[in-house]
Amino acid sequence: MSFRIPCPQCGERSAYEFRFGGEVLTRPQAGADDDAWYHYSFVRRNEMGIQTEWWYHRFGCRQWLQAVRDTRANRVIRAYFPDGKEQTDLGTGES
Ligand SMILES: [Zn+2]
Repeated sequence: MSFRIPCPQCGERSAYEFRFGGEVLTRPQAGADDDAWYHYSFVRRNEMGIQTEWWYHRFGCRQWLQAVRDTRANRVIRAYFPDGKEQTDLGTGES
């Protein structure tokens, strides 16, 4: 099965329409120590399993979205805009 991403705006599309934007990270609070900034800037978990990532739909609605992807199966479980609205679910048939 090809790698597809369910854009909340456009529906399910080929991953070739998107640009990968890296893992979703939490920026350290003001006053955080150097170690916290080092990890934020340079350390990536590159997780084997479920991780949340940024994707830009460059050949579609041209919006950034976040996708929850299983890196083992290279399958996007769900995708949504960062404001949390307009979620699209794949596969389960549940809403
Ligand atoms: Zn789109």
